Amino acid sequence: MKFNTKTIHGGQERDPAYGSVMPPIYQTTTYAQTTPGGHKGYEYSRSHNPTRTALENAFASLENGNFGLAFGSGLAAIDAVLKLLKPGDEVISTSDLYGGSYRLFTSIYAKFGIKFHFVSMQNSENMETYINENTKLIWVETPTNPMMNIIDIKACSSIAKKHNLLLAVDNTFATPYLQQPLDLGADIVMHSATKYLGGHSDVVMGGLIVKDKDLADKLYFIQNASGAICGPQDSFLVLRGIKTLHVRMQRHCENGKAVAVYLTSHPKIENVYWPGFENHPNHQVAKAQMTDFGGMISFTTKGNNFKEAIKIVEKLKVFTLAESLGGVESLAGHPASMTHASIPKEEREKTGVLDSLIRLSVGIEDIDDLIADLKQAIG
Ligand SMILES: *Cc1c(COP(=O)(O)O)cnc(C)c1O
Repeated sequence: MKFNTKTIHGGQERDPAYGSVMPPIYQTTTYAQTTPGGHKGYEYSRSHNPTRTALENAFASLENGNFGLAFGSGLAAIDAVLKLLKPGDEVISTSDLYGGSYRLFTSIYAKFGIKFHFVSMQNSENMETYINENTKLIWVETPTNPMMNIIDIKACSSIAKKHNLLLAVDNTFATPYLQQPLDLGADIVMHSATKYLGGHSDVVMGGLIVKDKDLADKLYFIQNASGAICGPQDSFLVLRGIKTLHVRMQRHCENGKAVAVYLTSHPKIENVYWPGFENHPNHQVAKAQMTDFGGMISFTTKGNNFKEAIKIVEKLKVFTLAESLGGVESLAGHPASMTHASIPKEEREKTGVLDSLIRLSVGIEDIDDLIADLKQAIG
């Protein structure tokens, strides 16, 4: 099955009761048993729920995995991956990563004796110097947030395999439409389905997808034991969102490109970060591992003025000033004071998150309206 068919049918079975085309929302906590243990595969909805199963199968299908797990949020999914580790273990992570992931690593898991190394991974050899006998996991986010750096997943995979480490990729920004990390050698794909997979800014949800049965069993055990599952209504909504993922992504990419090109031509703009530009430092890797370049763009203004950046995001009318990304509507954010406020200024400036940096999640509105909005806001 091709990807554009998988979004609609992947992992889905016809409803045996009435043939409903969409899976029913099984709003139930428990399931009748004929005799103790006599059930149809469902006992209690923390463990399994048929609507969630339908979604988990869709996740697995989209990422060319064998097993999908759905969680109450992207961070709950990351949390489950970290629970594979024990005190003394070490993790090598992308240095410019989602602020919430950084917070989970440094404020929660560091306390339990897990050590994190934040490494610039554009040059994958960089990573090797941090690997020792305690290293267990490589955590990769690509494109990175918000600097849109691209990390070579295949190169990370060969390092992970050489040292017998798990490789997990946060595929939230790219989505499986653009990039399929399991096929590039990753062991775990993670999603904040809150973003492009859901696609309509109405559900908070996370997902994990793996190929390996043992790894899936371990993660399922953690999911059931810790309980950070998503509900059936939310599972239904994300399933519905996924059905249009390919058409939405196509438009996100088209609009993203047009906005990136417009911004580079603007005299007040200093830098535009978008992996589709030939002079982007990792453009060749992006071209090799992604089918297109997505709708996420960051830019800085000349003079790096904090107040000016705030003024721009306040003036936007079609773009909404808001956290999050990946919905049909265009959003703008100011990482230094919003998504990345939990990262110390010194740390964040090292990775390029300057005071004037603005991040755009380019939506699927008419491109003329988006450009006109940016024009009036930047001035
Ligand atoms: C939003 C996001 C997360 C966290 O997901 P939630 O659903 O908000 O918990 C993790 N990684 C990336 C790249 C994100 O954008």
